[in-house]
Amino acid sequence: MEFSWFFLWLGVALLGLGLLLLRAWWRERRFAGAALSLSAGLLLVASSVQQLFIFAMGVTGRWEVDSTPFIVLSIVAAALATAVWVALATRRGRESLRRGASRPQRIRELEVLGAIARVSSQAGPVEKVGGDILDTAAPAVGADAAVLLLYDAGKGMLRAAAASGIRDELWRTFEVDVSDNFNKVFMAQGRSLVVNDVSQERRFKMQLARAVGARSALIVPIRYEGSPVGTLTFYAVAAHRRFDGVTVAVAELIANEAGDVLERTRLQEEVREERERAGRVLAHIGDGVFFVDGTGVVRLWNPAIAAVTGLDSDDVLGRSPQDVLPGWSAIEPLVPVASAPAYAAKHAETLPLDLGDRELWISISAVRFPDGTVYALRDLTEERGIERLKSEFVATLSHELRTPLAAVYGAAMTLRRQDVDLDDDHRRRLLAVIAGESDRLARIVDQVLAASRLDSGSFTFAVEHCDPAPLALEVVEAARAHAPPGVTIELAPGEDLPQIAADPDMLRQVLANLVENAVKYSPSGGRVQLSLWRHEGRVLFAVRDEGLGIPLREQERIFEKFFRLDPNLTRGVGGTGLGLYICRELVRRMGGRIWVASREVEGSTFFFELPAAGAAERLTAESVDEPTRARA
Ligand code: ADP
Repeated sequence: MEFSWFFLWLGVALLGLGLLLLRAWWRERRFAGAALSLSAGLLLVASSVQQLFIFAMGVTGRWEVDSTPFIVLSIVAAALATAVWVALATRRGRESLRRGASRPQRIRELEVLGAIARVSSQAGPVEKVGGDILDTAAPAVGADAAVLLLYDAGKGMLRAAAASGIRDELWRTFEVDVSDNFNKVFMAQGRSLVVNDVSQERRFKMQLARAVGARSALIVPIRYEGSPVGTLTFYAVAAHRRFDGVTVAVAELIANEAGDVLERTRLQEEVREERERAGRVLAHIGDGVFFVDGTGVVRLWNPAIAAVTGLDSDDVLGRSPQDVLPGWSAIEPLVPVASAPAYAAKHAETLPLDLGDRELWISISAVRFPDGTVYALRDLTEERGIERLKSEFVATLSHELRTPLAAVYGAAMTLRRQDVDLDDDHRRRLLAVIAGESDRLARIVDQVLAASRLDSGSFTFAVEHCDPAPLALEVVEAARAHAPPGVTIELAPGEDLPQIAADPDMLRQVLANLVENAVKYSPSGGRVQLSLWRHEGRVLFAVRDEGLGIPLREQERIFEKFFRLDPNLTRGVGGTGLGLYICRELVRRMGGRIWVASREVEGSTFFFELPAAGAAERLTAESVDEPTRARA
């Protein structure tokens, strides 16, 4: 009987200890150490029930305990329970117990941080890195879903950047206005907040929490060097889940790591964007740009320089410029190299660059950096060609003007002489020279004027119905009157020629130019033939000669302004280089086209076609905006 009270006491002690351990399990049920406290707690509760049962037996006197081993065992259990009670009652004892219990949790924390560190060492866009962090962090915190919100300080908004366990359409467009006072203070203080009941929460806008069906939430601000970067928000859907102090501590450690990771990711993205932007600029810039590194190897070759040189970046990158540009060694020492781009642009040098199959004229400058040199160049070949043609034109024109002027002057001086007795015939011939050469002068000046009016757009012409055959005859007769002795000029008008839509004066000028050229470029004489025939709603004109001919590669260029095959007059035939340019422009503006077929030495045939009157009207009716009276 005297033992009954002992069993009561032992039962109470074991029950208390069991409940304490069960409480510890309830708190830390997410950690590995919890399994131990759960089983120990349940064991103690069971054995306390047994002791109380024995006590009840003893009190009622229905059963006597007399087994010594059983009593010894119970005394040992009682001593153990008392020792734990005492340990729990003292601070040191409590601390040592807590240390023991929290060891697995620490290991778990370290595991989580290790996993986060591994995730965060991978580069990628914020959505990917953030998503990976959340995927690792959510289970560690005991959350069912999580979202990463980034802070836009300027607009006072938090915007979703990544999520875990939440459907795309719920989080992608999610943003919260955090410009109110409560949120401002929350973002500034950087302390975590647990929302135990989402449905009761009024301070935070919990739309996303409600959308995912969360019962509780944990909001952890992310900071970098003292400034808010965003938040990590964890959601627990199950009702019994609570985010306790330990969970919050783990979440804060994760947020701390996330702050560094996000900042690094942001910087990486900035660098990547910057690089892409620079790449786009370089791809669209009109100037050729290439970069040669410290070892003398080309590391960048933009599309403009690829277009100028005809060399693809694949063929150039990784090689030295000397290897790919035959003329590079010759010009490299002459390229002005500056240390500032502004200075370099001002001091660009125009140099010839030999590409092997052709030569380019480039304006080039360079800027030297510690890790290499950037070259910027512009193709001036065409401009240079025009410049050359212009200066040749001035020389040719001076010559063209001086020759008739000298003849006129000579004839006039002779006529003025008192000491020479000139007969009538001689006088007439001198006057004819003056008239002829003045006419030649006037035609040269007319050509220059016509070309300049065509360029400035002040050339007016009136398209009307006209018969091509009589017009061609007029031109041929005028040309015959001036033709040198060895040249015959024939006309072959085709049959059944329709009327054409053209300005008769312009057409006369085109024909006269072509026939005049045919005569001029047949220095050893020959037959010049002007033929006309009808061809599919058009009239075709052909001026054929048996003269010098034109090399195939120049047959396009002879229609360019100022272009002359023989600028230095080695073949002894003068001209301004404007006649064919004027012909091409006039024919184009009357709706036709002009071309040449020629073989050197054998002669040339210039063709042009103009629309027949009916066809031209149909064309005009179709293109409403095109007036018949046009300004060229
Ligand atoms: P130009 O006043 O020099 O004759 P054009 O524009 O009429 O100027 O002709 C341009 C160049 O085309 C001429 O310099 C000449 O070299 C070549 N050319 C023109 N017509 C003929 C032709 N019928 N035969 C050979 N070459 C020609």
